Amino acid sequence: MNEVLSRREDKKLVKALQAAAYNDHPNPTRIGCPTDINILKALAAKKLHVTDPVIQHVAECSPCFREVMELRCRLKRLRVFKILGGVAALTIFSVALASGYKNSP
Ligand SMILES: [Zn+2]
Repeated sequence: MNEVLSRREDKKLVKALQAAAYNDHPNPTRIGCPTDINILKALAAKKLHVTDPVIQHVAECSPCFREVMELRCRLKRLRVFKILGGVAALTIFSVALASGYKNSP
């Protein structure tokens, strides 16, 4: 009984767990939800300690789980924009440097 999940089975399991987290704990009155969005932002940025009680709450609260997932997507997009901005700046700098060498006597 020491079987390892294949990559496909693992993805399926993660999707099933995510679907459960998104829907299985509706918490319509938002009982126990953090009132400060910065706490969820800290969780999305992985800046909370693993023993922080907010993590357990988010695992049992679909609205908070959704918010954290949305915040994580935004952070990921922001990181991509920063990387692309850095690449663009480096390209512009390289082109300017190269054209400076071309025009020098
Ligand atoms: Zn909550």
